[in-house]
Amino acid sequence: EVSIFWFRRDLRLEDSVGLFQALRSKYPVIPLFIFDDSILDSLPKNDARVGFIHDSLSKINTQLQEIGSSLLVKKGKTFNVWQLLLQEYDVKEVFFNKDYEPYAIQRDTAICELLETNKTIAYSFKDQVIFEEKEITKADGLPYTVYTPFKNKWLEKYKSMAPVQEYNTESHFSNFHKNSFDFPTLEQIGFEESPIKVKPHNLKFIANYQDIRDFPALDKTSYLSPHLRFGTVSVRKLVNWAFHKNDVFLSELIWREFFMQILFSFPKVVTQNFKSAYDGIEWRNNEEDFKRWCSGTTGYPMVDAGMRQLNETGYMHNRVRMVVASFLIKHLMIQWQWGEAYFAEKLLDYDMSANVGNWQWAAGTGCDAAPYFRVFNPEIQQKKFDEKGIYIRKWIKEFDLGYGKPMVEHAMARDRAIATYKAGILK
Ligand code: FAD
Repeated sequence: EVSIFWFRRDLRLEDSVGLFQALRSKYPVIPLFIFDDSILDSLPKNDARVGFIHDSLSKINTQLQEIGSSLLVKKGKTFNVWQLLLQEYDVKEVFFNKDYEPYAIQRDTAICELLETNKTIAYSFKDQVIFEEKEITKADGLPYTVYTPFKNKWLEKYKSMAPVQEYNTESHFSNFHKNSFDFPTLEQIGFEESPIKVKPHNLKFIANYQDIRDFPALDKTSYLSPHLRFGTVSVRKLVNWAFHKNDVFLSELIWREFFMQILFSFPKVVTQNFKSAYDGIEWRNNEEDFKRWCSGTTGYPMVDAGMRQLNETGYMHNRVRMVVASFLIKHLMIQWQWGEAYFAEKLLDYDMSANVGNWQWAAGTGCDAAPYFRVFNPEIQQKKFDEKGIYIRKWIKEFDLGYGKPMVEHAMARDRAIATYKAGILK
């Protein structure tokens, strides 16, 4: 008789709600991770995120081995894996932390039904956010679609309970199942090492975050995003700490929860405009233009540097993400879904809610979005945020040899975008 704790996007042993509750179960706990073919099959074999997951699991496994346990790693279609597990073990209880993406909700519903037919009890927990689902709503119970009131309500609620509880899993480690499962290599999972690696996070600069975060050459942001995405840090520990350090930084973490709440409440935003009045805009969607944007050869240094940083490292500074997104949508008149998909493929920190939320923000089609007539001028952005061209030179090696001509002229593109939006938006 055993319990299972199922790791998904919470790849740590420390301060995990679901793991804590599992370890308090009366059965020994087998820790499990499933490499899900439904997700992996569409990824390139050297996908850096799979490498990061594998590294994070390997760290967990080493910690578990120190206490006489180990991680059970499976690969296959999640449903089939669970069917076999239930035959192999007498599983009394299953614990996991909730994931709010549409695919995950569908998957978890199917697994919970399977567990129920097996008379196995499933328990799920809020872990990846401070407030989930319908915890932050307007007075009438409806979801917020504007950030500032959401943030105010979030802060009010957080302050009423700060610091939020952290979970001391270590004190229950003795309840891990004693075993020594083989830990697969990345190759055995069907993947290979990527030269692109996730950086460790860094919070040293936090006191000045608001003054330096917008300057890509300084490179002073936390690099927390992939760690939050895969749960290698606990959001409770982070927020309890950040709350006393820096309001602007904290408000970025609240943006993360805002977009998660939007995705949960309005799952259509994954593919469709949040504001359907924008559905009639006539996009140019030119494939050649799109290729130039992807490869960082538009002739606008700020845009090209950003895209090259993304292609080479799987990361792009937030200020530059805004510039390249605006350029694709407004200057090239390519619909946001194309850029969103490209980012989803390349970003180490790709997170459906943040990516879709920010792309729709840039397109003007989303919640609390930038007004459509605000068109970033990439040259002015460069003068403001990379005045000495340090960031640009870092990513565009040939920059000093004379840089190519912009592929579209700014003033023309700006007027075209505003006119096309105006004509396309339903009154
Ligand atoms: P920091 O500035 O140190 O911020 C700390 C944390 O706050 C981040 O790790 C992130 O969790 C959160 N955060 C900060 N800004 C935002 C934001 N605008 N929206 C939501 N959360 C935020 N972020 C992702 O995590 N995944 C994505 O797929 C993603 N796609 C984006 C697409 C576009 C077009 C744009 C403009 C932004 C996108 N962002 C995304 C938001 C932001 O750019 C990154 O979170 C940030 O650059 C990550 O670096 P950092 O951790 O050093 O950020």
